[in-house]
Amino acid sequence: MSKCRGCGAEIQWIKTDSGKAMPVDMKKQTIVTASGQVVNGFTSHFATCPQANNFRKGNQP
Ligand SMILES: [Zn+2]
Repeated sequence: MSKCRGCGAEIQWIKTDSGKAMPVDMKKQTIVTASGQVVNGFTSHFATCPQANNFRKGNQP
């Protein structure tokens, strides 16, 4: 377990298919994908972090 440097929330790191570590919220969610699949997973912390804009600076086109 670790804490977000931006907002102090508890997060965890999950390795994506592409091999990159991604910060996600601790709470597990049930998600329905655009193609109708129901999956269990976590919400990207970038989507919920109030400081996400700061992280994204320089990383996104
Ligand atoms: Zn955060």
